[in-house]
Amino acid sequence: MSKSKSSESVKVVVRCRPMNEKERAAKFERVVSVDVKLGQIIVRNPREASASELPKIFTYDSVYDSNSKQIDLYDETFRPLVDSVLLGFNGTIFAYGQTGTGKTYTMEGVRNDPERRGVIPNSFEHVFTHISRSQNQQYLVRASYLEIYQEEIKDLLSKDQSRRLELRERPDTGVYVKDLSSFVTKSVREIEHVMNVGNQNRSVGATNMNEHSSRSHAIFVITVECSELGVDGENHIRVGKLNLVDLAGSERQTKTGAQGERLKEATKINLSLSALGNVISALVDGRSSHIPYRDSKLTRLLQDSLGGNARTVMVANIGPASYNVEETLTTLRYSNRAKNIKNKPRINEDPKDALLREFQEEIARLKEQLQKRSGKKKRRRQRRRAGEGSDGEDLEEGETEDDDEEGDDKGDYWREQQEKLERERKAIMEDHSLVAEEKARLLKEKEKKMEDLKREKDAGEMLAAKVKAMESKLLVGGKNIVDHTNEQQKMLELKRQEIAEQKRREREMQQQMESRDEETLELKETYSSLQQEVDIKTKKLKKLFAKLQAVKAEIHDIQEAHINERQELEQTQNELTRDLKLKHLIIENFIPLEEKNKIVHRAYFDDEDEYWKTKPITRIEDDHQMMTRPLSAVGYRRPLSQHARMAMMMRPEMRYKAENIMMLDMDLPARTTKEYQEPVIAPKVAAALEDALRDEDEIQVDASGFHSSLGSTPPASASLKKPKSGRPRTGKKSSTPTSPFSPSSPGSTLYPQSRGLVPK
Ligand code: ADP
Ligand code: MG
Repeated sequence: MSKSKSSESVKVVVRCRPMNEKERAAKFERVVSVDVKLGQIIVRNPREASASELPKIFTYDSVYDSNSKQIDLYDETFRPLVDSVLLGFNGTIFAYGQTGTGKTYTMEGVRNDPERRGVIPNSFEHVFTHISRSQNQQYLVRASYLEIYQEEIKDLLSKDQSRRLELRERPDTGVYVKDLSSFVTKSVREIEHVMNVGNQNRSVGATNMNEHSSRSHAIFVITVECSELGVDGENHIRVGKLNLVDLAGSERQTKTGAQGERLKEATKINLSLSALGNVISALVDGRSSHIPYRDSKLTRLLQDSLGGNARTVMVANIGPASYNVEETLTTLRYSNRAKNIKNKPRINEDPKDALLREFQEEIARLKEQLQKRSGKKKRRRQRRRAGEGSDGEDLEEGETEDDDEEGDDKGDYWREQQEKLERERKAIMEDHSLVAEEKARLLKEKEKKMEDLKREKDAGEMLAAKVKAMESKLLVGGKNIVDHTNEQQKMLELKRQEIAEQKRREREMQQQMESRDEETLELKETYSSLQQEVDIKTKKLKKLFAKLQAVKAEIHDIQEAHINERQELEQTQNELTRDLKLKHLIIENFIPLEEKNKIVHRAYFDDEDEYWKTKPITRIEDDHQMMTRPLSAVGYRRPLSQHARMAMMMRPEMRYKAENIMMLDMDLPARTTKEYQEPVIAPKVAAALEDALRDEDEIQVDASGFHSSLGSTPPASASLKKPKSGRPRTGKKSSTPTSPFSPSSPGSTLYPQSRGLVPK
């Protein structure tokens, strides 16, 4: 990133929270010390064995210890940022750190306690106080609140909390959240209400609030638009956007044993956070030309704040206790890197999407409409007055009338008109010279006129109300937003800001002196004695050696952290590869190639939604005939004329039967089966079988008799039909005795019947 005159670094501050009850009760060692004067955080290694190891020192723009007050942070660090937002810059405040270290405390704090309110409520106060003290400026303030959880964006202010929003990009205004609701707010109370609604929605959806809030990013957005008359006599609008970001907990997510869906979930939870880290690395690296903003929703949305045209402050929150030392060091290193990001803040002047401009134009349009209405009326009245004999100068006076007079005037006008109509109505009623019919007609006419009059009046009033409502949203200092602080409070504020500024300068000077000290170490070269030279040089050596050791230790630590990270990434990669292989295996073995090709052909990547989708199936490209049925064919397969429909109902004629072909008698299908052929059994075998199967009382029947007289001999047939044996009668049994003789008597009535498909 090239350095230009207007570029400035991301400001990084560190805040260490106090020990909490539990930590105190468990007597955890305090390993973090904070040097507020120098802006340094010093971390000791808690392990006994490494007592000789030097403490690690990190330097930041400013640091806050456990006694730090919310208001100190605000005055020193956040106020300048919010001030620049009021000037039309974009600004972002990130709270970064492990869960439970005070991110939410810093951002929101304790809402009902003015002492412990966080940045968000303090900025509300700041913004509206600023507006109330402004002069000749019009402001419009609106707020949005969203949450990113598992790479899904949720609008915390919308009624439908199940809906997920998408990111969109426009060349002129950049990345934005589509359909994100925003509320125009007129006072601190209103914007606080917006925040409360969002917070409630945040906790309602979550099954476990703690886990949810530690894994989701919450972004509160305040947009301040300001319109002011420029030197060129034109109104200019500046738009400043303040993003207040409470990030997900930065602690390492345990991924052990996670596979498939769970693994995906685990990698998704902090995708935005790791992408943020990658973006920071790429920005600081200086060699990489590609910054992976697009890797996550968070980085895409806050692209401007990282290496873009916004002002950015990052608050790194840490805990003081020994058991957190690993995470604390990670946080400190992470934020230390962020210090090197360069932004080029720029004022947003007259952007295309300024809502204030739309408001102003709409108000002007409505006012013009109102003007036209009253103009018409006035002219009518003036004509009347002129008829009465007054002079014509009235006209001009009338047009320069101011609002209040106009209001009175309007009331008078309506009353006058109404009274006049009423009088006329009465006159008609009392006029006996008119025929009843004529009277009724006239009365009706008058009534209609009165109704019209009323409607017109209502419309005018509605218009006026609308203008009023819209105007009330545009804040003008001293007019519809009044500063309630008194002189004393104002002085106090000013003093506080001065002190904050002084502190900042002091710290900067200290830091500069420190670095200069090291540089000048070599310059003091005059020694009075050899001993002194030895002493001084030994001291110098010791100091440099200590520094060398510190740097070596740091290198070692960073290398270790890198190795860990790499191993984790490799593990993730292995798991994903395995997953992919499995999917390939399934596709290759269980999905026909043809089907696979079809799907591959239909699949496409939707850039907007960042998701793979499939095109709908149509036989021909853009063939909508497949999809929709013409209106004239509802209930039919094709459009039918009225005539055809009637004919279908009236006459059983073939001509119009096109639609119900299926109701015609079916043609018999061609026969596809063969006649059944009995297996041929030798007569001897048949006879033996027959004997064996015959019941005892049937034995008397001579087998030879079957040939000629079975069909007609009653006793024999009777005995056959009604066997008295205890054996169950089966079809086979009753038919087999007769069948064996088929070859010799094909036309026999006892010939077995085939089952179906043979015409009777
Ligand atoms: P996070 O949002 O990072 O998970 P919280 O803001 O919820 O952490 O803080 C955890 C607890 O520590 C809360 O009870 C909060 O009140 C307390 N806490 C954090 N920072 C401070 C601080 N600077 N002073 C006093 N209490 C703090
Ligand atoms: Mg939190």
